[in-house]
Amino acid sequence: MKINYKIISIILAVVCIICIILANRAPKEKIVYKETYTQQTAVNEAYLNQIAYSKTCQLCSGKGYVACKTCLGTGKDYDMIQYCNGSITIFEYNCYTCDGIGYRKCPKCNGVGMLSYTNRDVLNK
Ligand SMILES: [Zn+2]
Ligand SMILES: [Zn+2]
Repeated sequence: MKINYKIISIILAVVCIICIILANRAPKEKIVYKETYTQQTAVNEAYLNQIAYSKTCQLCSGKGYVACKTCLGTGKDYDMIQYCNGSITIFEYNCYTCDGIGYRKCPKCNGVGMLSYTNRDVLNK
């Protein structure tokens, strides 16, 4: 019977050691909780970045491009040289701003023609 008590005490000691090991593992469980929190945050981030609604760009009326301000949509610009004798020479050249196209990509919608608003934009209104 005395031997049995020794075995029991050894078992208790082993259980105690296991308990200590498990207790030391507690901080790791906290890290797991942190990861869960980060995942939740990422889900919220994804929701906030989702497009809530889109509407036609008012600046370009949905076309995605606007008339060049420098050449007013003509694609041409002019320069003039006046000589001492009074004669005038007019140079016509392609507009530098739009490369002679006359139109530029809409700066507001970046050429898309539509403006999209995310859930974050809606919440921040
Ligand atoms: Zn131009
Ligand atoms: Zn636009």
